Amino acid sequence: MVKRFQKEGGEMKCIHCQGEMKRGTTPFHVDRRGCHLTLDAVPAWVCEQCGEAYFEEKEVDAIQDLVEAIEQKNEALAVTA
Ligand SMILES: [Zn+2]
Repeated sequence: MVKRFQKEGGEMKCIHCQGEMKRGTTPFHVDRRGCHLTLDAVPAWVCEQCGEAYFEEKEVDAIQDLVEAIEQKNEALAVTA
């Protein structure tokens, strides 16, 4: 679900168009069982040419922690028949 940024030999190039990657932010959206999380601006590497965004390891971890926490809390509110 989350694209990881791969540093190859220190080169910061977009895997789609070989464009230059710059530090910026990107919106992130995830859907989980009736729960929708939208982050307006997550720090990421963004391609200057095509706008493709890649997250670093720590950003991927933070997003996954957030999604897991939401899933757990959401379970407490789940309708059990
Ligand atoms: Zn690109």
